[in-house]
Amino acid sequence: TDATSIHRERESMSNSANRLREGAEQFAFQAEVSRLMDIIINSLYSNKDIFLRELISNASDALDKIRFLSLTDKSQLGEGDNTKLEIKIWLDPESKVLYIRDRGIGMTKEELIKNLGTIAKSGTSAFLEQMQKGGDMNLIGQFGVGFYSVYLVADYVEVVSKHNDDKQYIWGSTADGSFTISEDTENEDLGRGTLIKMHLKAEAQEYATEAKLRELVQRYSEFINFPIYLQTEKE
Ligand code: ADP
Ligand code: MG
Repeated sequence: TDATSIHRERESMSNSANRLREGAEQFAFQAEVSRLMDIIINSLYSNKDIFLRELISNASDALDKIRFLSLTDKSQLGEGDNTKLEIKIWLDPESKVLYIRDRGIGMTKEELIKNLGTIAKSGTSAFLEQMQKGGDMNLIGQFGVGFYSVYLVADYVEVVSKHNDDKQYIWGSTADGSFTISEDTENEDLGRGTLIKMHLKAEAQEYATEAKLRELVQRYSEFINFPIYLQTEKE
């Protein structure tokens, strides 16, 4: 089918991207995390919208953390654009890549490895169990594994992150049991924070429209204490 061929293409794309990335290291997901991702990426769950709620919530948490840290150490906030505690969402309509970035605390290399794949939280196996019993995907955030809902809409995800204590790194995975980490030499300098690049699945193209994104941002921004800007194209 179309979806399968696109998925294959993405896989080879990510593999070649990772091969090209000098010094990329490969890691296996913790077993339950891997199983969970497999369920999510193959899920026929219809309310895929929730992925954006989860990513906005993570961006907001990251912004809360840097704001809190800056109360006792103002230098942590940095200067210029780094002081803008905001969330931006935009789309590349041609490549069908959806982006969300925050100027939150970011993740060091070690945190990317731990937080996005190698350390299972207590909620991981609990949610996995729920899912195997036909439970509700919508509750994913309550189990502390909300990030992985991104695989409802994307088959290749890159997380670019910059923490004050480390260099900028790229995490990448096609949810095939492993992820790669490499120092980032290809994206814009984030200054600080996290950029998530979602390569949308063939069957999730509705998220590559401004109208749909506008609706979702409106819905999920209600209880978020930071500005969220939606741009159709990166300025
Ligand atoms: P939860 O948010 O409940 O902890 P998630 O699966 O949504 O669970 O996220 C896992 C972890 O990944 C978070 O706890 C955080 O440490 C890290 N993380 C995810 N998104 C971001 C982000 N935008 N900025 C910084 N850290 C993040
Ligand atoms: Mg979360």
